[in-house]
Amino acid sequence: MNDPNYYANIYNAYNEKPKKIRILDSTLREGEQHPGVSFTNKQRIQIAWMLDYFGVDQIEISPVISKDHEESTRTIIKQGLKADIVSHGRALKEDIDISLRCDAKWVAAYLGISDIHLKDKLRISRDEALKRAVETVEYAKSHGLKIRFTVEDGSRADPKFLLQVCNSLEEAGVDRISLPDTVGILRPIGMYNFVKKVRDEIDTPLDAHVHNDIGFALANAFAACEAGVDQIHTTIDGIGERTGIPSLAEVAVALTYLFKSPNDFRLDMLQDLSRLIENYTSIKPYDSKPIVGSSAYKHKAGTHLAAVLRNPAAYEPIPPRAVGNRRRIVFGELAGKTGASYLMSLLGLEKNDRRARAVASGLKSLRMGDLIDIPLEDRFEKRIINDKDVERKRTK
Ligand code: ZN
Repeated sequence: MNDPNYYANIYNAYNEKPKKIRILDSTLREGEQHPGVSFTNKQRIQIAWMLDYFGVDQIEISPVISKDHEESTRTIIKQGLKADIVSHGRALKEDIDISLRCDAKWVAAYLGISDIHLKDKLRISRDEALKRAVETVEYAKSHGLKIRFTVEDGSRADPKFLLQVCNSLEEAGVDRISLPDTVGILRPIGMYNFVKKVRDEIDTPLDAHVHNDIGFALANAFAACEAGVDQIHTTIDGIGERTGIPSLAEVAVALTYLFKSPNDFRLDMLQDLSRLIENYTSIKPYDSKPIVGSSAYKHKAGTHLAAVLRNPAAYEPIPPRAVGNRRRIVFGELAGKTGASYLMSLLGLEKNDRRARAVASGLKSLRMGDLIDIPLEDRFEKRIINDKDVERKRTK
């Protein structure tokens, strides 16, 4: 049994044939709604190219914001990328017309359907909303477009009205329906029930668009998949309105490793994608951010170092190289004897148990916290393990 995750995988229950879950990345639409984010035309094009090369299925951008966004959308569509470019706007003919001007093949339209959105945002009745939704889909279809419809704030809408809208959209020929938890109010079982309600009624492929206001976005995205959604919305680093949506890195890694979804993502680009956004926005992901954070693969406690130096899988679910990150080990008051001994070997000092113990206790009494962290490359691991093996053989 070589796979350290073997038993965990049994709990994860992979007996069924895994379903393919797609990713729509909305860094260029939702991401630009994050406070302080505004990409230039060139940056948008580069982000689109990189997302396409990474392997997302759809890339969403909104041409209706400004002339500049319209220009970006048109240019990105012209690139002939593998991913569908989804041109996003309100459920209005005039917004569909802007997408048509950009030569879009895929459009997305959104319309609030909860009572609060109808009353205090749109100031229209349910009947008017239903009519507007259907007319938008019919208009898009009459122009040969593929259309996704987002029933905005759907998780807070009257379920009867939600189903009525979804049924009417399906009848009008909609290609996908996005089920959003717009204010991030659902817990995972709530998201499951919300999606299931719609899934049981209609056959149209479904998207999950979930917000992270209480920190449940990632869990809710996957709860939605369990209930029948086959596309998750992400942004690079999870940026978006307020606290954002699930991050591309976490979704792509979870799909690949935990859900065994047959995607073809270049996971080793994940940290570069995160850096790209950091450069373009000056939003630095917090160091403990899963997958891409600078501490995501840092090992510190002495007992952890001792294990990681022998076999990193002892404290890593996935090798850092697979996701473009690097393993580092931290030396300081927690390093312990094995950590100290490793540090001494790096400094070219002769290995000696007694001295390593003295260095470890010296580091403790210095009370200076962490002194340095250094990369731990695979070749070092091998060397350490080999040294140990040699030592073992000698002592036999
Ligand atoms: Zn959103």
